[in-house]
Amino acid sequence: MTKKKTPQSKTIDTKYIFVVGGVISGVGKGITTSSIAKILQSRGYTVTAIKIDPYVNIDAGTMNPTEHGEVFVLGDGDECDQDMGNYERFLNTTLGRDNYMTTGRVYQTVINRERNLEYKGKCVQVVPHVPLEVIARIKRAAKKAQAEVVLIEIGGTVGEYENILFLEAARMMKMEKPDSVMFVMVSYVPIPSKVGEMKTKPTQHAVRTLGSTGIQPDIIIARSSDPLDDKRKEKIALFCNISKDRVISAPDIESIYDVPLNFEKDHIGETVIKILKLKKKKGEGLLSWQEFFSAPKKANKTVNIAIVGKYFDTGDYTLSDSYLSVIEALKYSAYAAKSKIKISWINSKEFESRAVHVSILKKYDGVLIPGGFGASGVEGKIQAIEYIRTNGIPFFGICYGMQLAVVEYSRTVLGWKDAHTTEVSPHTTTPVIDILDDQKIKVQNKEYGNSMRLGNYVAELVPNTIAYKAYGEKQIVERHRHRYEVFPSILEDLRSSGLILSGMSPDGRLTEIIELPKKVHPFFVACQFHPEFLARPLAPHPLFSAFIDAALTRAKNK
Ligand code: GLN
Repeated sequence: MTKKKTPQSKTIDTKYIFVVGGVISGVGKGITTSSIAKILQSRGYTVTAIKIDPYVNIDAGTMNPTEHGEVFVLGDGDECDQDMGNYERFLNTTLGRDNYMTTGRVYQTVINRERNLEYKGKCVQVVPHVPLEVIARIKRAAKKAQAEVVLIEIGGTVGEYENILFLEAARMMKMEKPDSVMFVMVSYVPIPSKVGEMKTKPTQHAVRTLGSTGIQPDIIIARSSDPLDDKRKEKIALFCNISKDRVISAPDIESIYDVPLNFEKDHIGETVIKILKLKKKKGEGLLSWQEFFSAPKKANKTVNIAIVGKYFDTGDYTLSDSYLSVIEALKYSAYAAKSKIKISWINSKEFESRAVHVSILKKYDGVLIPGGFGASGVEGKIQAIEYIRTNGIPFFGICYGMQLAVVEYSRTVLGWKDAHTTEVSPHTTTPVIDILDDQKIKVQNKEYGNSMRLGNYVAELVPNTIAYKAYGEKQIVERHRHRYEVFPSILEDLRSSGLILSGMSPDGRLTEIIELPKKVHPFFVACQFHPEFLARPLAPHPLFSAFIDAALTRAKNK
C-alpha cells in the first residue's frame, strides 16, 4: 500500500521577496513590506514576513523607545522592532522569534557553533558563514510558516556598511534559485522646495549602489510627497534598468492602511506574481479591508481619548512611534464602533510641575495610561488616576498604568500614604508593587537583557466582571513585558476595600486585571499585560473595545 502524503509533508516551492531601502530610511519600508505581504495574502497565498535589523543588539528590549520606537513583544516573548507589529496586524497572523534577526543574533549563533566545533575544524569566515546563517534563519522561518511567499525586510539603506552581509545573503539566495527570489527597493524621490520638481537622481544613485552588491531591483517603490508622474516613471525606468510598469508611485497618504489599495492601483500584485512565476490563486481580495478602513471616514461621531504618558522628550514624531501599537489598537476599536477617533497627548510631568491641572482630563471621553519604566512623570500619572477615578472618567491602564492605579488606590482608599512601586521607591515601607525574587537576582547582577516576564501567559477571569464580559471567555492568553508585580500579600486588602481583581494568573498569585464595580465607576479597568499587541484590524481587542464603548457613552451623555 502506498502511503498517502499529508498536506504538511508536501514540499513548498517558497518564493522570497527582499525589501531594501534606498536614499534615506524612515520612508516606509515596513509598511511597504506589510502591504505587499497583505496583497499576496489577499490573493490567496500563504505569506510570512521577516525583519532584519542590522544593529548588534540581540533584541530591541534594551533600546530606548524615544530613539528606536516601540519595543514590540511577540507571543514567544521576543522583544523586537515595531515593524513586526505591522506585519502581524496587516497579516492577522502570529509571528515568532524566527521571524526577527539582528546582526548580534546572527553572530552569536555563528560564534556559539564555532565554539561547539560544529564547523568541523574549518576556518570560520565572515563570508560565507555569516550570510549562510542568515539564509538558514530565513529558510527556517519560511518552513515553520509553511509559507509560499516570504517577505524579508532588510533594515537601513543600501550603501550602509551595517547591512552588507544581509544583502550578500540575499544575493546568494538569488544565485541559488533565480526565479524564486526578487528585490523591491523602497526609494525616496525628493521635491526640493527651491526647485519645485521631483528629483530622481538620488534613486538612480541608490540603484547603482545596490548594483555594486550584485543586486538589481525588480520593483522600485518611489516614495514621495506627491504621486509620480509619467515622465518621472520613465526616467527611473530608463536609468535604473527596469520597465516602467515596475516603478510604483507611493505618495504620502493619510492612512497606512490605504497603502495596499494604492499599490494595487499600480498592479503590484500582478507584477509580483509574474516575476516570481507564482501559480494564480483565488483569494478573498481586499474588499473587507477597504470597507473596514473607509467606514470611519464617513462616521459622524468622534471619540476623544487622552493618553497620559512620558515619552515626550524628542518631539511628536517619535512620541507616536513609542506608543504605536496602543494607537493602532484604539483606532481599530473606534472604527469597529463606527466612530472617528482623536487622540491627545498629555505629559504627566506637567501635572507635577502644575503647568497643567489634572482637571483638564474631564474634557476627554476616556483616558488611557500606557506602559512605562522609571520614575519620571510617575507622580503626575498617579494624580491623573486619582482624578479620573473620583470623577467617573473612563480609564484604561496598561502595565505601568495598572501598577500606578494600584499605588493610587492603596494611598487614597487604603490610606497607605507611603505606598509605592519599588521601581521608583526601593525603600518604601509599603511596597504594593514589587519585583519577584527570581527577577531580583537578575537585576542585582545587572542582567537587564531578556530579564522580564515576557510574552504569553494565561490569565483566568472572574465571572460577572467587565473583563469577563468583554472577552466572553474564562481563560485568556495575553502578552507581557514587565518586571514588577502587584505584591501578592496585599491582594486581600485590595479586594476587601472594593477593588475587583478580575483577572489572575492560574495559581491566583499574580494580578492580571483590576477593575472597579460599575456602580462605583462607569469604566475603570487596568491590566498588567499589553493587550495592544494582540489588537488587529477587523479583529479589535475586546478590552480596547470595551473602553471605547464606555468613552462613546460618556461622549453621548455629555
Ligand atoms: N515598569 C514596569 C515593570 O517593569 C511596567 C512595565 C511596562 O509598563 N511595560 O513592571
